[in-house]
Amino acid sequence: MQTAPNLMPIPGHVDPVPVPRATPARADGKMDLVGLTRDQIRGALEAAGMEPKQAKLRSKQLWHWIYNRGATSFETMTDIAKAQHPWLAERFAVDRPAVVEAQVSSDGTRKWLLRSTDGHDFEMVFIPDADRGTLCVSSQVGCTLNCRFCHTGTMKLVRNLTPGEIVGQVMLARDSLGEWPSQPEGRMLTNIVMMGMGEPLYNFDAVRDALRIVMDGDGLALSKRRITLSTSGVVPMMARAGEEIGVNLAVSLHAVTKEVRDEIVPLNKKYGIEELLAACAAYPGANNARRITFEYVMLKDKNDSDADAHELVRLIRKYKLPAKVNLIPFNPWEGAAYECSTPERIRAFSNIVFEGGISAPVRTPRGRDIDAACGQLKTSAEKRSRAELDRLAEEKQAALG
Ligand code: SAH
Ligand code: SF4
Repeated sequence: MQTAPNLMPIPGHVDPVPVPRATPARADGKMDLVGLTRDQIRGALEAAGMEPKQAKLRSKQLWHWIYNRGATSFETMTDIAKAQHPWLAERFAVDRPAVVEAQVSSDGTRKWLLRSTDGHDFEMVFIPDADRGTLCVSSQVGCTLNCRFCHTGTMKLVRNLTPGEIVGQVMLARDSLGEWPSQPEGRMLTNIVMMGMGEPLYNFDAVRDALRIVMDGDGLALSKRRITLSTSGVVPMMARAGEEIGVNLAVSLHAVTKEVRDEIVPLNKKYGIEELLAACAAYPGANNARRITFEYVMLKDKNDSDADAHELVRLIRKYKLPAKVNLIPFNPWEGAAYECSTPERIRAFSNIVFEGGISAPVRTPRGRDIDAACGQLKTSAEKRSRAELDRLAEEKQAALG
């Protein structure tokens, strides 16, 4: 498997930038239209031999059917001549990633294990709240960055997801929530966070193209104000993210000293804290109405002292950042080297940051029982058998019991 062109072993520890590669071909030779822009659909139709004028019209209709109506087959596209449906179906597909497994947490959080057409597993999570619903989308299979508290960083194989696989997650969530056609009001899926598996700024082009499709008003129509991209601090890509995507920015800071951040977010050895905060200050579109979120995972005796909290306030002030801080209780996984800070410690930390004039809510962990919480996403190339999963579930139940 190591030799397959679209797989990459983790090349290094600090800054192993994934190489862009061609979209893996489908086994049936068809081209998937999900993930393509209007122009790309038009180009694909022309390349397949359709006359240019017709291709222009059809690409608009296809775009609308796919992204606004959620069509999954050509037969339902009533304004496209029936006689043309077989021609399209022979050459093109309108697919979603395959669902391997869907789980529901006791708190209503849902997790899907998805599989790409070339057999790679990745996950997406939906977190319902009273007045909104947030879809946590993956950008890569695995992650090359190895943050020490994150389970995704321990995955061996990594591949960038394609725009189709990224948009496909949103389409699939809409399917399962029954939210077609796309409409601005009354949706359950209101927000998107690029906080699933992977570092979105290491798959910049695909994430940008996918989010542009998601934001298009005639398609999935999610406003950029309701989309947040989270980065562990890929400084050179942050300005472009602001200019070319323009969504809200979240930054995984997690520590305020070089020593600790080097240990828990190894990318810090390449792009240090000061450099990162300067890039935040320059982030286009950041202002008091649209603040930058700093994520801070609470690790017992590692980054959770009063002094750390004061330093966090000092740094945010120094760079005059319109910021809020999300305190994330560490979500444990088997073999992790850290523990979560105590609730009292987290409260004390939060109070200091609040007193410094910066909002610092403590995030309630969601979906922990199905390993859907931040940093718990991990799939294995050798999937456990159904029987083994059932056995593990029984054991877990017994242990809780
Ligand atoms: N790669 C991106 C986005 C995905 S992670 C990033 O790192 O920002 C989403 C958030 O969950 C990040 O802030 C990440 O640091 C945090 N996280 C990772 N592992 C965690 C864990 N075990 N417990 C709590 N938060 C975790
Ligand atoms: Fe990758 Fe983010 Fe996990 Fe770090 S926290 S390993 S960047 S997914």
